[in-house]
Amino acid sequence: MDKTVLITGASRGIGAACALLAGRRGYTVCVNYRENEAAANDVVRAIEAAGGRAFAVAADVADEDDVARLFAAIDARCGRLDALVNNAGILARQARVEHMDAARINRILATNVTGSFLCARDAVRRMSTNHGGNGGAIVNVSSRAAVLGSANEYVDYAASKAAVDALTIGLAKEVAQEGIRVNGVRPGLIHTDMHASGGEPGRIQRLQSSVPMARGGTADEVAAAVLWLLSDEASYATGTFIDVSGGR
Ligand code: NAD
Repeated sequence: MDKTVLITGASRGIGAACALLAGRRGYTVCVNYRENEAAANDVVRAIEAAGGRAFAVAADVADEDDVARLFAAIDARCGRLDALVNNAGILARQARVEHMDAARINRILATNVTGSFLCARDAVRRMSTNHGGNGGAIVNVSSRAAVLGSANEYVDYAASKAAVDALTIGLAKEVAQEGIRVNGVRPGLIHTDMHASGGEPGRIQRLQSSVPMARGGTADEVAAAVLWLLSDEASYATGTFIDVSGGR
């Protein structure tokens, strides 16, 4: 296979798991990272050690100039783009709405929504058959929070992920006849660094006990769903979502 995939925020967590699996599936993987170059290079080396091809590119997906440089690097290196995983995402500390301010929600929206939008836009410019592309697939990493709302946790983050879902649905319709499928994966509680900054004592145990399967998921379990949606096996799936949330 000579397909290229861009995975944003891929130096750790779900993005790194997607990158490693994409490398094993034969994609050339662009491992985007914001600041942790050493971790991104470790992901590249792990893909290469497994016989795959990968390269790392720094970019803040919330910054339009950075995104332009990221896609230019892919153009120069691969000359094609077949798949995009909009994985980069942030949340802020667990809080009630009274303790949130505009700076906090604007930061979250900039990465989760604007970042996903900018990368999807630049991917469409390359993949669309209207622009001479070969088509492709986009997967947006949303969250079960988009549907559940995350009361008393982070309603701002949940709102940002609901926007990602609307972007997924609208874009899927807009580019459906240009060879591009756009889908989303909604993880539930997944054990990654995202939850490392804590919250109230016992929070993770409390969240786990609200999961029907009574456990958090792994980044690999999310990556499996992402890679299926990217694959030709999902050739008639667009504008839809896979919840990977243990039934939550
Ligand atoms: P993580 O914090 O380990 O990874 C997020 C990655 O995104 C990091 O590598 C970070 O550097 C990168 N990133 C953040 N802002 C960026 C920016 N502006 N530009 C480029 N990269 C940026 O968390 P994770 O759990 O692996 O999260 C991956 C995705 O999954 C996120 O979109 C998150 O919202 C979503 N998600 C996670 C969970 C969970 O429980 N862990 C649940 C639902 C959804």
